[in-house]
Amino acid sequence: MKTYQVDENGYYGRFGGSYVPEILYRCVKDLQERYLVELGSATFRQEYHRLLRDYAGRPSPLYHAARLSDRTGCKVYLKREDLNHTGAHKINNTIGQILLAQRMGKRRIIAETGAGQHGVATATVCALMDMPCVVYMGRTDVERQQPNVQRMQMLGATVIPVTSGNMTLKDATSEAIRDWCCHPADTFYIIGSTVGPHPYPDMVARLQSVISEEIKWQIREKEGRDYPDYLIACVGGGSNAAGTIYHYVDDERVKIVLAEAGGKGVCSGMSAATIRLGREGIIHGARTLVMQNDDGQIEEPYSISAGLDYPGIGPVHAYLSEQKRADVLAVDDDEALAAAFELTRLEGIIPALESAHALGALKKVRFRPSDVVVLTLSGRGDKDMDAYIRAFIKQ
Ligand SMILES: *Cc1c(COP(=O)(O)O)cnc(C)c1O
Repeated sequence: MKTYQVDENGYYGRFGGSYVPEILYRCVKDLQERYLVELGSATFRQEYHRLLRDYAGRPSPLYHAARLSDRTGCKVYLKREDLNHTGAHKINNTIGQILLAQRMGKRRIIAETGAGQHGVATATVCALMDMPCVVYMGRTDVERQQPNVQRMQMLGATVIPVTSGNMTLKDATSEAIRDWCCHPADTFYIIGSTVGPHPYPDMVARLQSVISEEIKWQIREKEGRDYPDYLIACVGGGSNAAGTIYHYVDDERVKIVLAEAGGKGVCSGMSAATIRLGREGIIHGARTLVMQNDDGQIEEPYSISAGLDYPGIGPVHAYLSEQKRADVLAVDDDEALAAAFELTRLEGIIPALESAHALGALKKVRFRPSDVVVLTLSGRGDKDMDAYIRAFIKQ
């Protein structure tokens, strides 16, 4: 049977792999050899699921959004990752990785962050486990995401502003990799999405796969069958999408729709639609689609949503798009904003701007009235109130 899961060498077709400097070879190899054994062990699973339940608040509800369904012309369920502790799906991954770090005897945690959501989720589990935490964040992001910087500091993390390049997520990631190169023996790098060298994309997808594991039994309870007709999620690096589709990716009855950030328009020069605009290249240790100019210099992406403006994309999503297993739609800033206001007024739920891109995709698909759609609401909108208020005033 054809499978879209990672192969034994860490590839999805041509995409993925592990392109790391010599000094990290040993430590990435270690991780490759250990992660499946550890994640599969009974004691890891017990501790991971206990924390997901008692600490993060899982299972997250699968909510039938009746008024949104009426408006969309099919049956829409929302997978409520916005209700997790720290406000998004990111905590599923950081809980898993810090347990792995402990089992591998690491004593220090580093992470990169763009909008600060992954930084907060990492600082949170470091406080919980009493481990020192260093978070790299571009200086531009430090300035525009102050509340998250303050949350990380209150949690006890050291936030290091990065001043190279455009001082955003890609530069923070490069700096975190540099730190890792200096401390490969005692440091565990908690990556926030399905990006980076193998095994990270597969490891993060597995840690987020609890989302589709829950969808399976929840949709069976509600619809009497364990699969929907459509799964919809937004993609930045691709982790909430990877978790949403994990247990369905080889089930062709289920259509997959991914929403990437169109920004001010795919052809406007201000976009983060990496799958549409990117060309094959290597970024942060993986072969994937990359937004780059003719000289191979990375082009700075733009989106109203700080969580979606990464110039690369998870290798799995590059592959699913190439194979036409997933339909990738670009949703522009304006469309995402409109979708966020619509959800708020129809359902009383203020979504994260990232998640609003998935909601925007609902307008671009022609559904049949009998279709059952599960859309992952990756996070809540508290952090985006400034952008929403500015948009509201303009209306
Ligand atoms: C970080 C983030 C995203 C984008 O990351 P993925 O790895 O693509 O899921 C989406 N939504 C929210 C709420 C986020 O915090």
